[in-house]
Amino acid sequence: MLGSPSAWDTARIQLENAVRHLGLDDGLHDLLRMPRRAITVSVPLMRDDGHLLVLSGYRVQHNLARGPAKGGIRFHPSTDLDEVKALAMWMTWKCALMGIPYGGAKGGIAVDPRLLSLSERERMTRRYAAELVPLIGPEKDIPAPDVGTDEQTMAWIMDTYSTHTGYTAPGVVTGKPLSIGGSAGRAGATSRGVQLVAFAALAEHGLDPYDVTVAVQGFGKVGALAAQYLHDAGARIVAVSDVKGGVYNPQGLNPAALLRRVQRGGDTVVGHPGTDTITNAELLELDVDLLVPAALEGVITATNADRIKARMIVEGANGPISADADPILDGNGVVVVPDILANGGGVAVSYFEWVQDIQAYFWTEDQVNDRLCDIMKRAYGEVSALATERGVSLRAAAHIIGVARVADAHRTRGLYP
Ligand code: NAD
Repeated sequence: MLGSPSAWDTARIQLENAVRHLGLDDGLHDLLRMPRRAITVSVPLMRDDGHLLVLSGYRVQHNLARGPAKGGIRFHPSTDLDEVKALAMWMTWKCALMGIPYGGAKGGIAVDPRLLSLSERERMTRRYAAELVPLIGPEKDIPAPDVGTDEQTMAWIMDTYSTHTGYTAPGVVTGKPLSIGGSAGRAGATSRGVQLVAFAALAEHGLDPYDVTVAVQGFGKVGALAAQYLHDAGARIVAVSDVKGGVYNPQGLNPAALLRRVQRGGDTVVGHPGTDTITNAELLELDVDLLVPAALEGVITATNADRIKARMIVEGANGPISADADPILDGNGVVVVPDILANGGGVAVSYFEWVQDIQAYFWTEDQVNDRLCDIMKRAYGEVSALATERGVSLRAAAHIIGVARVADAHRTRGLYP
């Protein structure tokens, strides 16, 4: 392995650790590691200027032992099959840990959506969705938004799938607009879960949640609202960033004002009045109580792990800490609340959305938030208790629980044929 482990390396190492703790045999380990299905599709897109661009798209269904596949769709230039495989594997353990009856999946297109017009994005999404029609469906595989996609993307996928099948199928995707079967509370669910778990972990580790400083990397769907909810709950947000860089004010930032700036078409937080500009690397190394990486995987590696000064890291993103950084952070006493626990609120409310779609009966936002809170608290309590009992990190404990539940489902179902 040259350089830092990739997302796929990291995911495999985390699985190996859980398998060792659980004493699973090699055959079951192989079954749990290998994706059940992985497809690559070519996505031809006619650009507005008449040129044909052929993009690569992916969908991986990592494991279906506990239910239909579930996972987001990412539009990002560095997306490739190995990244999607890693993200799909993490979805499997996350759904199991959250106690949700799904397997794990992920998909994406290697593209920078910011370089496409709205109608180009629509044509690309619809063609990609059409290629996936044989694979997805409310009982088979249910996509959701991820990096570079949003509720409009989900609406196009839902419409494309419904047109192909000949009837309206809201349950084929989650994270949809409310007008076509979305759920109240879904847009903020991942971030609300991040806040709930962060406060539980801070309190348990002797840090007063109402008196902590926080840096958030990534000011997108997860990061912006995580900053907002942490701020609303009483924490002081001192830095946030996006792909163009970060802003810092030790007295505290106003996430709502930053969100308005971005929603009004400002393409970055950088330059916001009353803030100093910092780089993403500097943000990660700030002397804060809590660091919330909420952008991409592999931002904390063996190269910078020793320079992390945060007391606690709550992973809003999937895989932001590579496997070679974990032992360094551990050795330095940094508490890491792992992705499959910390950002599990998104898939929890995606599950609620799917349940509501299937029943054609919708819940209030309070009902959604109360049930989300129950799931997050239960999952945090289980992980924390196992970590203490076995003397392992929260990441190891979360993976042991998730992997054990999937292994159990395999054993119970038996092997066909
Ligand atoms: P998003 O596209 O809405 O936002 C991503 C943010 O990261 C943007 O602010 C972008 O500018 C920033 N960014 C991109 N590249 C960067 C870089 N190199 N350095 C710093 N910042 C960078 O995506 P999102 O949905 O908020 O997802 C963020 C992370 O959270 C991903 O790891 C995703 O898999 C994970 N996640 C998302 C959800 C969800 O419900 N959307 C649920 C669980 C986990």
